[in-house]
Amino acid sequence: MTVDWPSAESSLMGNAWVCSRANDHVNMLCDSIGVRWGGSEGERRAAEYIRSRFEEYGLQETSTEEFEVDTWEATSSSISIDGEDDRILDVRPSLFCPSVTATAPIVDVGFGMAHEVGPLTGRLDGAIALISGAYEPFSPPESLTIRLERLATLGVVACITPYAAGGRRTSHGHAGDWRDDDPNTVSLPLVHTSREDGALLARRAASGATVTLQVDSQRTTATSRNVMGDLAGDIWPDEWLVLGAHHDTTVDSPGANDNASGSTVVLEVARLLAQLKREQGIGPGRSIRFVTFGSEEQGLQGSAAYVERHYGPDPMPRLMVNLDELGTGSMKGVVLQFPELRPLIQKELDAMGEGLKCHVLAQMDATGDGFPFARKGIQAAMLWRWRFVGRHPDVAFGHSSSDTVDKVRIRELKEYAGFLARLMLRVSHTTPEEWPQEPLDTVEIKARIAQERGSVVRTM
Ligand SMILES: [Zn+2]
Repeated sequence: MTVDWPSAESSLMGNAWVCSRANDHVNMLCDSIGVRWGGSEGERRAAEYIRSRFEEYGLQETSTEEFEVDTWEATSSSISIDGEDDRILDVRPSLFCPSVTATAPIVDVGFGMAHEVGPLTGRLDGAIALISGAYEPFSPPESLTIRLERLATLGVVACITPYAAGGRRTSHGHAGDWRDDDPNTVSLPLVHTSREDGALLARRAASGATVTLQVDSQRTTATSRNVMGDLAGDIWPDEWLVLGAHHDTTVDSPGANDNASGSTVVLEVARLLAQLKREQGIGPGRSIRFVTFGSEEQGLQGSAAYVERHYGPDPMPRLMVNLDELGTGSMKGVVLQFPELRPLIQKELDAMGEGLKCHVLAQMDATGDGFPFARKGIQAAMLWRWRFVGRHPDVAFGHSSSDTVDKVRIRELKEYAGFLARLMLRVSHTTPEEWPQEPLDTVEIKARIAQERGSVVRTM
């Protein structure tokens, strides 16, 4: 089958632009449903909405797969300075922060690097540390996880990180390293405060103050969901491409950029390709599976459950493309986890004539739903949209209640949908000879992940 590319691609772009449903999806997910923390009622409603859309668009084998999520809830948290009882400090516990009640001297450890904590050693046992979550600019960057582990071994009982931007803002971070098997069991309780209250705590630390820090939280289990639907390939129906995105959010965020944007584009690409096949008889060569994952923010639990359930019994897909935080900037290209597919993807991007580039990550990226695929030896890719240049400042509102619909540009989502529909269709029609014949070595991949633990992955 030869595809009339100008006809197919102008249909996809025209449909993506003029008949877009992106605005409906973003509004439904963020405004009508709202917070979609994995295992919550909001997340269940989002999954139901996405499943209904997959059915409406005519995907085959649409289904919702439940899995048990290891989840977390904080019922109260506070920071107070002893002797200043009327002052209420900004506080937000990190995700999976364990319960803690401590009254202790506060010590400013800077970035918590070895050269900074060395001279403080005698003062850290039993202390609460004030630590910058940013990277110390004059040394090779060290992850916050590693710096917290260092402080834990020196006897620190809890840590406070101020938010970098001003305006009394805070956002949810995570103390664990997602390359670990159990990233949610963390070395220390970590809470966030605003830049303003962080500066106040630094002043009080200098004068030897004692602070009281309290978090009440529970780890529980709940039911979370992945949603999927298929578009069968016309030429190689047993070969698969996967397009995925997570539909969940952090605990109090409407998650517009993170990640109604990506879920919306998965829905739009499904609609565009299904319609092209139905109305013009132009279908994908390989089969395409569309998936949205639950519980990404709880340590990639949805994509991990999906990979575990499907790959082994089902054949491994040729490629998985993960969409996350597409409100970050316009599409610039594709970033592969492994180098093998670079010539194939770059050739298709060149054929599209949009000036898009294909790059390869130097490290294993465990910060998104491509990771469980890559760990399993599946070619994984994300989009190049937030590295280096052209990043919208609105991304700074992530993991908080400020990640609202005004932070995404619908016009850019339309462009993503059109570009990705074209790219997925093109890649689905490349001949089997263009693909690497050798499978990826999962033993080598696991060794690489272990060796890179604690290193800072340059995706931000
Ligand atoms: Zn995300």
